[in-house]
Amino acid sequence: MPDATGHFGPYGGRFVPETLVVALDELEREYDRAQADPAFRRELEDTLRDFAGRPTPLVEAPRISEKVGCRVLLKREDLLHTGAHKINNTIGQCLLTRRMGKPRVIAETGAGQHGVATAAAAARFGLECVVYMGAEDARRQHLNVERMKLLGATVREVDSGSRTLKDAINEALRDWVTRVRDTHYVLGSVLGPHPFPRMVRDFHRVIGIEAREQVMQVAGRLPDLLVACVGGGSNAIGLFHAFLGDENVQKVGVEAGGEGVSSGRHAARIPEHSIGVLHGTRTLVLQDERGMIRETHSVSAGLDYPALGPEHAWLNDQGLARYDNVTDAEALEAFEVLARLEGILPALESAHALAWVLREGPRLGPNTVVVVNLSGRGDKDVAEVLRVTGRTAPGA
Ligand SMILES: *Cc1c(COP(=O)(O)O)cnc(C)c1O
Repeated sequence: MPDATGHFGPYGGRFVPETLVVALDELEREYDRAQADPAFRRELEDTLRDFAGRPTPLVEAPRISEKVGCRVLLKREDLLHTGAHKINNTIGQCLLTRRMGKPRVIAETGAGQHGVATAAAAARFGLECVVYMGAEDARRQHLNVERMKLLGATVREVDSGSRTLKDAINEALRDWVTRVRDTHYVLGSVLGPHPFPRMVRDFHRVIGIEAREQVMQVAGRLPDLLVACVGGGSNAIGLFHAFLGDENVQKVGVEAGGEGVSSGRHAARIPEHSIGVLHGTRTLVLQDERGMIRETHSVSAGLDYPALGPEHAWLNDQGLARYDNVTDAEALEAFEVLARLEGILPALESAHALAWVLREGPRLGPNTVVVVNLSGRGDKDVAEVLRVTGRTAPGA
């Protein structure tokens, strides 16, 4: 748990304009009340089961296991409604919005996955929904823009800055400042000002709670290793959290190594360990000598963000989880390996976690049980994979 002011050691906290402090206080209060309210918990559980499709299975990956030489189990978050773990959080926050009596939600989105998950949950609970998206991202992810619109959301394209996720978040925060009274900001990862990192984590804890029970049934014991990709870090903390008391269960978060950390074109925050403030929280960020946030790069849009969730920064300092990275090329290879060997197209984000297991697994030995979080499905990435592997003619 973070302390009362939302700090995980030196990380986290609240760096926001005065007008948002009241809204964040209200959110924290209402969230604490909701958590203690059996009716809220029941409706959340029912919706996760009937609308999102929980529990998700934990399954053996026999052909991958044979290839890498250790026992690999997959947590299938990719089977959830809208195709990724993100729906766990948007259902929780939309239920909370209704409870606060607010009729409108806003969200930011990069590749469009969080936007789609928010639009779906907002439709389900009858909330007006506006999604901010960088114009460049909207161009690259046109299908998700149309999905959001079909789900009744308004998509506002953002033309400032690099016209990507960072700019969309700035715009969403600006909207929220002017309309806090009737609007809740559905933040998409374990980032932003307190209480978001804790709240978003709690909505994803169900991943690890289920996995802990399931692994006892499947393997008869706790796993040796948990592996998950880390953008902001919500799917990873969701898996790790229920195991934080288990010292013998190692946790590995995999960041986007892009073209290699030494190339400068990546989104791995841990290797540089540079502390800064971005979008309302103090954490590890990628910045230049003057404190300007740097451009990041990853083949996977969901990992392409300059800040790490503050709780992960703290877990890393404490040695309670460790962090590594894999390159674009390794992730692309893992994408194809999982497709061919197990019949599953993973999201390129999730392929990073799998790529780490393909690389490190042979050193672990056949008695090692590894749980890999398959955070999302890869249908959204097919065009990008074809493009970067040169299977689409240029300009096609
Ligand atoms: C958004 C996304 C991620 C990255 O977000 P986290 O908060 O780090 O989990 C990972 N996988 C998928 C499939 C995503 O859509």
